[in-house]
Amino acid sequence: MAILVTGGAGYIGSHTTVELLATGHEVIILDDFSNSSPKVLDRLKTITGKNIAFYEGSILNKPFLNKIFKENNIEAVIHFAAFKAVGESVKEPLKYYHNNIVGTISLLEVMAENKVKNIVFSSSATVYGVNNISPLTEDMPTSATNPYGYTKVMMEQILNDVAFADKEWSVTNLRYFNPIGAHESGLIGEAPNGVPNNIMPYITQVAVGKLQELSIFGDDYDTPDGTGVRDYIHVIDLAKGHVLALKDNLATTGSHVYNLGAGQGYSVLDLVKTFEKENNVTIPYTIKPRRAGDIATCYANSNKAKEVLGWTAQKTLADMVRDSWRWQSQNPNGYEE
Ligand code: NAD
Ligand code: UDP
Repeated sequence: MAILVTGGAGYIGSHTTVELLATGHEVIILDDFSNSSPKVLDRLKTITGKNIAFYEGSILNKPFLNKIFKENNIEAVIHFAAFKAVGESVKEPLKYYHNNIVGTISLLEVMAENKVKNIVFSSSATVYGVNNISPLTEDMPTSATNPYGYTKVMMEQILNDVAFADKEWSVTNLRYFNPIGAHESGLIGEAPNGVPNNIMPYITQVAVGKLQELSIFGDDYDTPDGTGVRDYIHVIDLAKGHVLALKDNLATTGSHVYNLGAGQGYSVLDLVKTFEKENNVTIPYTIKPRRAGDIATCYANSNKAKEVLGWTAQKTLADMVRDSWRWQSQNPNGYEE
């Protein structure tokens, strides 16, 4: 029995593929490379020593999806495929609603037709919106401030409704906090197109000389040093969380939701200072005004994942910044030559 990994060539999907293979799962990757490179597949083969079944195409294409289900014995889907750039989602909302919502509905319909009713979904801490106080727990009300965030809120609802209507379904919504880091080989990592929006790839691109300096968005928040506090989690810990969530998903029915965060907040300056110290590089920065839509503090209460899944984040902030830098320094242009 195989696990279909949609968006498996992407940042989190590629790392999760490594952990799935390491724990004895058979993996089939589906990706349209809209935000990733075919080179990931070669790198995965180098890391795992395994040939991984791969289908190039979109989750929007139902005949294509049906073919994959007919050709393979799939027991569950881990569903990463989505667009994820907040700013772009504000400018092009229909692109985001179409790919993320219509794409997922297309996938769910084909899964149901093929009687595969187990799905683990990439949700996000963004569903906690701006009004909940950290540490965030899964029972807090959800909301969003941009179309990307709304696609996650809506998809959780759609998945919960599907599981409510048909008791054979098992759906697991995983709310990721701030994934950073990379596989310790330095062969796979985060490779954003254009200028990065997220802090870690921005820092590594400054470190490698592609960008001049980091802008720190605000130092007047109500936090210990005034800069924004987030829950950074190593992508390998996150990947391991998927393996445990999948095990739980396969053993249960109904809908489940888990925070996957380290449960600890670090400020932007903590991150920059740790990066500089661990990697012996300097990150020039300027303090700039707050970024629209940002909140001061966001971190998880991850007790539920610990108690039910037996998962806790193991890696430290130092591990995260070292692995991010190894990836970027070995691949200054990401997967491009
Ligand atoms: P990513 O862009 O690196 O990976 C997503 C992959 O999906 C890409 O390889 C892309 O080519 C593919 N894809 C997109 N639309 C597709 C489609 N219609 N059909 C087939 N493939 C398609 O992003 P990531 O950081 O690995 O994120 C994975 C998931 O986790 C996304 O759903 C994202 O919203 C969610 N998430 C990410 C973060 C984060 O900080 N990285 C945080 C919370 C949630
Ligand atoms: N941030 C920053 N400069 C950047 C990008 C981000 O100071 O170039 C800050 C941002 O204000 C937030 C933190 O870094 O406090 C994490 O931002 P990111 O976009 O990575 O994640 P998110 O805002 O989604 O938690």
